[in-house]
Amino acid sequence: MAKIIVYNTSNGVLETFWREESENMPYNTGGTMKVREFRGSSNSPTLWTTRQAMQSWNSTRSAYNAPIPFRYAFKRIWEGGHGLMSQHYAGVSFDVGQSLTSAQRQRIHTIATDLGVWGYVEPLSLTPTWVHMDRRYGTPACSTGYTTLRRGSKGVYVLVMQDCLNTLGYSTAGLDGIFGAASETAVKNFQGDYGLTRDGICGCATWNKLTSLVKGNGKTSTTIN
Ligand SMILES: [Zn+2]
Repeated sequence: MAKIIVYNTSNGVLETFWREESENMPYNTGGTMKVREFRGSSNSPTLWTTRQAMQSWNSTRSAYNAPIPFRYAFKRIWEGGHGLMSQHYAGVSFDVGQSLTSAQRQRIHTIATDLGVWGYVEPLSLTPTWVHMDRRYGTPACSTGYTTLRRGSKGVYVLVMQDCLNTLGYSTAGLDGIFGAASETAVKNFQGDYGLTRDGICGCATWNKLTSLVKGNGKTSTTIN
């Protein structure tokens, strides 16, 4: 049984679902994405995504009109294989088509690009044996990555930030996607300890420090699931 937090980027609503591994992901239509497919090899008891990412998947799968196998969507930051600020950690990215032919992948890539429902579809030259598409949102704090977060922010990027902070020993008093007082204090304490501007705002420099410290550390006793 997985706890799944779904964020709606349009109206700021966060919803929590409990689903078996064999059940569909929330907002998936047509049974085209099970919880176990979304999580891939991730061991996380808690998963997160956005309604918009699921809608983009539904549109793409519907337009392709045939099964699209995929290996995973979700990763926690220490689970490997990605850079510092991958959209897979935010649960809004899908790597698909590993067992298809290159012609089939080309068709999926074309459909995903032409639909215009994704924030980013990686050029096939960079992913020759799969298709990466993600529904990133907002303006990234660095040239790539996540948005600037502050008190009152909500969403999957807040979940990534809270995950990092807790794992480094700075308690956010929960993993809920809401940047409240405890998250603000945690950011300030983290910034103070690492010589960053102690403003309680998670921008580019704070993101870089947070993610680089967490990556490779592995799950710790302070991680919240
Ligand atoms: Zn990917």
